[in-house]
Amino acid sequence: MTIEMKGRERLPRWMKMQMPKGESYSKVKNLVAEHQLHTICTSGNCPNIGECWNRGTATFMILGDICTRNCKFCGVTTGKPFAPDAEEPKRIAESVRVMQLKHAVITSVDRDDLPDLGANFWAETIREVKQLNHETSIEVLIPDFQGKAELIQKVIEAGPEVISHNMETVERLTPQIRSAAKYRTSLEVIRFVAASGVVAKSGIMLGLGETETEVLQVMDDLRAVGCKVMTIGQYLAPTLVHIQVKEYITPEQFERYRTIGLEKGFSYVESSPLVRSSYRADAHVKA
Ligand code: SF4
Repeated sequence: MTIEMKGRERLPRWMKMQMPKGESYSKVKNLVAEHQLHTICTSGNCPNIGECWNRGTATFMILGDICTRNCKFCGVTTGKPFAPDAEEPKRIAESVRVMQLKHAVITSVDRDDLPDLGANFWAETIREVKQLNHETSIEVLIPDFQGKAELIQKVIEAGPEVISHNMETVERLTPQIRSAAKYRTSLEVIRFVAASGVVAKSGIMLGLGETETEVLQVMDDLRAVGCKVMTIGQYLAPTLVHIQVKEYITPEQFERYRTIGLEKGFSYVESSPLVRSSYRADAHVKA
């Protein structure tokens, strides 16, 4: 069962979010400001920021906070980014140390303006975090690097434990939702990662008008390329100019997808309305 949306209505009762406050929340907030870092938690208006930051976790966003792409679902600012900040990898590494993270999650904006699309900066960031945090596992949520295997290889060689690349939605809706990324290219990115032996992870958002058959097809496509971990969450429009929610998927339907995903062979499926790709990522890596 789903709830169809007409205009901008109140959120259903199951979309309750924790208020962003508390001692741990403030600590993370201050640390991010002090180290001049960006997080997708704030740039993406993530509904879990209260919960995650209170647990002392956050997802760092490297290569600035301006993205060269203009996806219809994403709250990150689009435009002409600044030159990469050479000190950022060190500051990320230091923040991971101060936060005593057992599992660090890092993502980035798309940098189609850079000759290497940001791949070398990605690799350097991973190496810096590893060098300063020997016990910390690293998960990276990467862009598609335009499907260029040699660039994805640079990230793999830096040695993260998990590499995630989101499909975001079903194949039919991809051209409407994502500005430049292509469904088949994203699958090839995940195939390349999985073939290298690194844990491959991906995620989609629901409520954009997809059917159950299409969602199950994404699962089959991901399993076929070796993806092991999948996240499924409810899409929420960052603003009124972004693509609007077509429907709210019920918690029961999310649970159904979780069960089916496990039957299809995923090692871990995180599926519930507030799930985002980095939500409880530390639990996925333990599993
Ligand atoms: S789910 Fe991810 S992006 Fe959202 S607050 Fe938690 S760590 Fe940040």
